[in-house]
Amino acid sequence: MVEMSDKMIEKRIDELIKKLNQANYEYYALDNPTITDQEYDSMMDELIKLETNHPDLVRSDSPTLKVGGQVISEFSKVTHEVPMMSLADVFNIDEIRDFDARVKKVIKNPSYVCELKIDGLSVSLKYEKGKLVRAATRGDGTVGEDITHNVRTIKNVPLSLPNDIDIEVRGEIYMPIKSFNDLNEERAKNNQSLFANPRNAAAGSVRQLDSKIAASRNLSTFIYHLPDSDSYGIKSQEEALELMKKLTFTVNPNIRVISDINEITDYIEYYNNHRHDLEYDIDGIVIKVNNIADQRRLGATAKVPRWAIAYKFPAEQVLTTLINIEFCVGRTGKITPRADLAPVRLAGSVVRSATLNNEDYIISKDIRIGDTVSIRKAGDIIPEVVEVIKNRRTGNEIPFKMIENCPICGSKLVRKENEAAYFCLNENCDARKIEGLIHFVSRDAMFIEGFGDAIVEDFYNYGYLKRIPDFYYLKEKKQELQELEGFGKKSIDNLLSAIEKSKENSLERLIFGLGIKLVGKKKASILAKYYNTMDNLMNAKYEDLKGITDIGDKIARSIVNYFSDNKELIIELKDIGINMNYLGYDVVYNELFKDKHFVLTGTLENMTRNEAKKLIEENGGDVTSTVSSITTAVIVGTSPGSKYDKAVKLGIPIWNEEEFISNLGGSYERMGRI
Ligand code: NAD
Repeated sequence: MVEMSDKMIEKRIDELIKKLNQANYEYYALDNPTITDQEYDSMMDELIKLETNHPDLVRSDSPTLKVGGQVISEFSKVTHEVPMMSLADVFNIDEIRDFDARVKKVIKNPSYVCELKIDGLSVSLKYEKGKLVRAATRGDGTVGEDITHNVRTIKNVPLSLPNDIDIEVRGEIYMPIKSFNDLNEERAKNNQSLFANPRNAAAGSVRQLDSKIAASRNLSTFIYHLPDSDSYGIKSQEEALELMKKLTFTVNPNIRVISDINEITDYIEYYNNHRHDLEYDIDGIVIKVNNIADQRRLGATAKVPRWAIAYKFPAEQVLTTLINIEFCVGRTGKITPRADLAPVRLAGSVVRSATLNNEDYIISKDIRIGDTVSIRKAGDIIPEVVEVIKNRRTGNEIPFKMIENCPICGSKLVRKENEAAYFCLNENCDARKIEGLIHFVSRDAMFIEGFGDAIVEDFYNYGYLKRIPDFYYLKEKKQELQELEGFGKKSIDNLLSAIEKSKENSLERLIFGLGIKLVGKKKASILAKYYNTMDNLMNAKYEDLKGITDIGDKIARSIVNYFSDNKELIIELKDIGINMNYLGYDVVYNELFKDKHFVLTGTLENMTRNEAKKLIEENGGDVTSTVSSITTAVIVGTSPGSKYDKAVKLGIPIWNEEEFISNLGGSYERMGRI
């Protein structure tokens, strides 16, 4: 890595401060951010690291030292008696453990309160003799804006309390997702600019001079902080939340008290997976030391308390640069354009490419090489380009042009009527053949473990694999294969035994693996069940096939054509010893699993989590991530997490792996074959 000179570091710090301060202004004062939170967070992270390594370069105007908000002159100013702070962010479990370790240097056995991090803006509510007298924004932490007139219009902010007390409470004003969608829909109709997200819409709404606007925006609040707890005899955050509930404030119900930091993982996992089931946006989890005296001992920096931390969820949509558009050739010859992206972290993993579907898709979004694009994971697996950020164009972007020839074999591409995709029609195209072989060994087809895409491609290029039967002849080349770079006796032995094992597969895997046009996994299964043997299927007439539920005209025709062209191949596979019979069984749910709920914890030795889940589901049960009174049993592997403790506490039955396998009966033995 190139070392930065002191001059360069100073320059970079200057650059980051300027950009972050500008972003703060746009975000807090104008409620109109022009960069994403993820871009902001990564610049802030870089600045913190540079300042930590070069404390002499920390400048007084650095945004790392101050709470980001700004006060607009139209509002009266409010000075906070107790400063309103921000929170230090962390992005992974190790950083949470570091936080725990820092806390434990001061506090012996801390307990923590975990709360949802509501994505809104913080508010201070002041009551005198039980009456709301003032509501204020956080502002720069010391001085905020008086927004009482707007906060009065928020339905769940009590204007008077059941007791005549003087009290200040703090919490979050947010805009429920439905209100946000309705608002933006309305604004679109009226040709008004749209709010970027519910947070900005909420902030924009409470900072209006006319309270009718705020009143029409359906804002809401969750209250989570009592600054002066001592005056009310409150000893912990948990008690503070209880008191605020009694005082008729709305306190978020999804709160958990934990005494071991490791228990946080379940909470994070649960809300990361279920955050979109909530009616409001959350952007993370806040972890707070529970005991107020402990909080005081830990203290605060100028910007954040040392007794709390915010874990931010991995971004689900991020911006990156589209470096190039490549074209992939599938096994059917279909050409799929793919975006090569500047690597970026998305939903917890690094993404380098995204699908662009087809020519029409690219043209409709006007995607160009060099564009800044927003990407997200579709169905949580394959990333897709959502939109182009057109206001970031420099003019050097290259407009898209569809290729005319196959990038691999050069043959002319064809776009059939009513189809969005182009096809390479050359059946001998190397790319198509490699993809066909990859498909044959894939998990849902013959499931030959150890054969990654790259190995199939290498073996094809070395000449060991050209057609499907070649997999089964590889054993004759065992010696040569072992000598290939990157392989050895053990890996080739494993590969060859996985190939042999695949001969026992049930018929539907083979049918699917052959790659017959229009015959996907489901249809393969229907055909195997219906015909029972490959011979029956191979000899089936078009009329017979068409008569089967779910097998239409096109599929029937495709099957007949396939077998008339590939008789010899099937005979060869039969001679190799590949099973040609349906081994399945009609699904009879196992009563131990049917309609029951299971939780998995720890590492299982004989199967992956996914396989265990699949087995449970095949038997009619389901898998949930949290243990509760409705859990039928918790299945425990080695090093179980807190779910195990919870099961013991609630008296939920616990199955070890052996019991689990025995309860599964025959379906464990059949795993992966059927
Ligand atoms: P923050 O939002 O990361 O965390 C602190 C805030 O969390 C508190 O002030 C409070 O309002 C809120 N919060 C929600 N639920 C809470 C709970 N249960 N307990 C305690 N607090 C809770 O910090 P911040 O200083 O408000 O904002 C910084 C973040 O804002 C950045 O990390 C960035 O993501 C975003 N930002 C973006 C831009 C941009 O241009 N896109 C600019 C500035 C800031």
